[in-house]
Amino acid sequence: MTAELISGTEISKAILEEIKQEVNEMKDKTGKVPGLVTILVGENPASISYVTLKVRTALNLGFNEIQDNQPEDISQEDLLALIDKYNNDPEINGILVQLPLPKHIDDKKVLNAIDPDKDVDAFHPVNVGRLMIGGDEVRFLPCTPAGIQELIVRSGTETKGAEVVVVGRSNIVGKPIAMMMAQKGVGANSTVTIVHTGTQDLATHCKRADILVVAAGVPNLVKPEWIKPGSTVIDVGVNRIGKNEKTGKAILRGDVDFAKAKEIAGKITPVPGGVGPMTICMLMRNTLRSAQRSM
Ligand code: NAP
Repeated sequence: MTAELISGTEISKAILEEIKQEVNEMKDKTGKVPGLVTILVGENPASISYVTLKVRTALNLGFNEIQDNQPEDISQEDLLALIDKYNNDPEINGILVQLPLPKHIDDKKVLNAIDPDKDVDAFHPVNVGRLMIGGDEVRFLPCTPAGIQELIVRSGTETKGAEVVVVGRSNIVGKPIAMMMAQKGVGANSTVTIVHTGTQDLATHCKRADILVVAAGVPNLVKPEWIKPGSTVIDVGVNRIGKNEKTGKAILRGDVDFAKAKEIAGKITPVPGGVGPMTICMLMRNTLRSAQRSM
């Protein structure tokens, strides 16, 4: 059997179209569009390319997008003042500070200075707490976990009562997706296990997963024989395993042995083209929801 491919590329395109439509409706009704500011400190090439992609996506959707570039040597005080300015700007619904920040800046202090109601990355402790409580408390879901849940739901995978095993317990992927899948409600209501480097028998846990979410950052960590036949496998891992000699581009692999796993799983995400494209898409949706709430 060959698994059905869950294409993040296709699903994210569909969601971006939905967002565009909602933005147009908002503009027609209120004359306003969502406002997003992306703050980039310094000239880290990877950060520049991430920010460029976010800015391009926001502009394509018709958002009011401000790209605020600051020099590498900006003081923490000035950066905090800048965030305060955007916190108080009614035209701005989402504030995104691109990480990493230079060493002389305490990134925790900066992220915690963002108004939780404009924290579209959902890294602020208030939003982490709201996620834990669930239901109406939730303002924003963190972007990568939200993208993972969307892939699970839109692939038609039943989540209610499903055994979900999450490999990894990071604050940006493992812990939040585990919490989200355990909540009562649509697209969740699962029985969740989190495994990590302290887990004694990774294989046994993975083998009983109806939905296996792998976010470890270790290429080929999950062996094909650990996969339950017919299960849904979401591979979050992005590992650079070499360079394509012709194009010079990095060769990317996930945490799952995709070639063999796709013969066992029922549905599976590829790397690249799985979870990756969903993250920006969810950032845009968070900004749209923030704008809708502010009206
Ligand atoms: P992270 O902070 O390094 O966390 C990795 C987690 O995996 C840790 O909890 C670690 O356990 C666990 N782990 C590592 N090796 C393991 C092993 N051999 N057995 C069991 N558990 C193991 O990483 P992250 O930020 O969550 O990211 C994980 C992967 O997802 C990376 O490849 C990253 O590039 C990718 N990612 C992709 C996207 C995207 O596509 N948009 C977004 C975010 C992350 P301990 O806690 O015990 O150390």
